[in-house]
Amino acid sequence: MTIREQMNGTATIDNYIGGWRPPASGRRVPSLNPARRSETVGLVPDSDRTDLDAAVAAAEAARRSWRKLAGSQRGALLFKAADLLESRMDEIGRAMTREMGKTIGEAKGETARGAAILRYYAGEGMRPIGDVIPSTDAEALMYTTRVPLGVVGVISPWNFPVAIPLWKIAPALIYGNTVVWKPAIETAVTAALVMECFHDAGFPAGTVNMVVGDGAAIGQGIAEHPGIHGVTFTGSNAVGQRVGQIALARGAKYQLEMGGKNPIVVAADADLDLAVDATISGGLRSTGQKCTATSRVIVVREVYETFKEKLLAKIKTLTVGDGLDAETWLGPCASEKQYETVIGYIRKGREEGAELLVGGERPSHPSLADGFFVTPAVFDRVTTGMTIAREEIFGPVLALMEAGDLKEAIELANDTEFGLSASLYTRDLANALAFAQEMEAGLIRINAETAGVELQAPFGGMKGSSSHSREQGQAAIEFYTAVKTVFVKP
Ligand code: NAD
Repeated sequence: MTIREQMNGTATIDNYIGGWRPPASGRRVPSLNPARRSETVGLVPDSDRTDLDAAVAAAEAARRSWRKLAGSQRGALLFKAADLLESRMDEIGRAMTREMGKTIGEAKGETARGAAILRYYAGEGMRPIGDVIPSTDAEALMYTTRVPLGVVGVISPWNFPVAIPLWKIAPALIYGNTVVWKPAIETAVTAALVMECFHDAGFPAGTVNMVVGDGAAIGQGIAEHPGIHGVTFTGSNAVGQRVGQIALARGAKYQLEMGGKNPIVVAADADLDLAVDATISGGLRSTGQKCTATSRVIVVREVYETFKEKLLAKIKTLTVGDGLDAETWLGPCASEKQYETVIGYIRKGREEGAELLVGGERPSHPSLADGFFVTPAVFDRVTTGMTIAREEIFGPVLALMEAGDLKEAIELANDTEFGLSASLYTRDLANALAFAQEMEAGLIRINAETAGVELQAPFGGMKGSSSHSREQGQAAIEFYTAVKTVFVKP
C-alpha cells in the first residue's frame, strides 16, 4: 500500500514499477484542488528517466510469460480489477473531484464506466482473434492470428483520469501486451487508486506499471524509448503531433486521439427545448473539458433568436461551485493553467468583435474566491475567422453562429481543422441522413449531444483530431496487436 493519507487529507503517492516504489530522485510535487487551491490533494512523484527505464525493464521482463497465458486467464484478472474499482467508486470519484473539479456525480459515473470498460475487455479474452483463409494449396491450412506488440506506453490526460487510461490499458493487457502508463500529473492521486485496483487484483509484477511525472520528461521519454513497442496518446494536438513524429521516426506503432471543436447544428424544424438541453449538457458538463464538448452552436436563421433566448434563460440557472457540493452543476476549471487559457479566449473573443451575452467571469460568492471558477459564457455573432470559432478552448464557453439554412450550417460545421464529434437537432430524416453523410467527424450524433461515447463502439476523430485509428469496442484490437498470417502444409 503506497497511498498514505495524512491527517490533513493529503495523499503521498509512489510510482508502481513491478510494485510500489518512490521516485528515484525522491522529488514530489503537489496535486492541488482546483476548487480550493490552498488544499493539496496529494504529493505525487516528479519522476525522471531512471524511473521510466526501470518501468520499461519491468514490463519487458513480464511480457513473455504474460502473453503465454490464455486470454481467459488474463480476462479473469481484468474482471477482478473491475470489481475492485466498482467497490471503491465513492472514494475514487471523490479523489477525482478533488483533483480536477468535475462534479461528484460525473466522477462516480466515470469510475463506474471504468469498471464496465474492464469487463468489456475481460470478455474479449475469449473472442475470435483471426480467420481461416482458403489457400490455393488444397492440402494446406492458412489462417491469421493476432500477436501482442510487446510493451505499450500509455500517455493520458487529466480530463477523464479513469476512463481514458482504462480504455487503453484494458485492451493492451487482454491482447497480451504489458504496459507502462504515464497519467497526467494533475490527476495522479486518482491514477494511483486505479493502480491499487490492478495491484489488489493480483496482476503479475511488471504487467502494468505507472510512472508519474512531467510530460516533457516521462511522456516524451515514452515516445522515445526503444524498449516501448507501441505508444497510445490522448491529449492536445500540439503534444500529440510531437509524440507521433518521435514514435514514427524510431519505427514504433502509435495512436493519437487529440482535440475537437465540435459543432451542434440546430435545424429550423428542431425541437428547440431538446436542442437547448443538449447544448448545455454537451457544452458545459465537466466545465466544457471534454474532447467531445460542444463548442460551436450553429443555428439556422429562422429559429436563431428563439433558440438564443431559451439557451440564455437556462444557462442563468446553472450553479457553479465545488464539485463535491451536491448543489453544484458546474465545477471549476481543472487547473490554474486551464483557467488562464479560458480567460484568455474570452478576452480574445471580445477583442475580435464577438458579443459576450452572459458569463465569462469569476463568480462573486466569497466561498469560490480560492478556486479556478468561471461562469458559463455565451458569445453571439461569432464568425468563422474568429479565434474562438477555430481553436479548442476546453472550457465553459459556447460560440453562437448563424446560418442561412441547413446546407450553410453543415458547411460552417465542417469549416475546422478538427473532426471529432458533431450533433444535429432535426425532426426530418432527410436532414439527419444528409448530416451523417456530409459531416467530417468520427462521431455523428442525431438528436443527441456531441458528448456521449459508448465503450463498445469505435471512437476517434477525423482530420486533425486523430491519427485515424480507432479506440474502444472491438476496434481496439487493430492497434494493440499485429496480424500474423500462418501457412501450414502437412
Ligand atoms: P496535454 O497534451 O497537455 O497532455 C496529455 C498528456 O501528455 C499528459 O499526460 C501530459 O503530461 C503529456 N505530455 C505533456 N507534454 C508532453 C510531451 N512533450 N511529450 C509527451 N507527453 C507529454 O493535454 P491535456 O491538457 O492533459 O488534455 C486536454 C487535451 O486532451 C484536449 O486537447 C482534449 O481535446 C484532448 N482529449 C482528447 C480526447 C480524445 O479522445 N480525442 C479525449 C480527452 C482529451
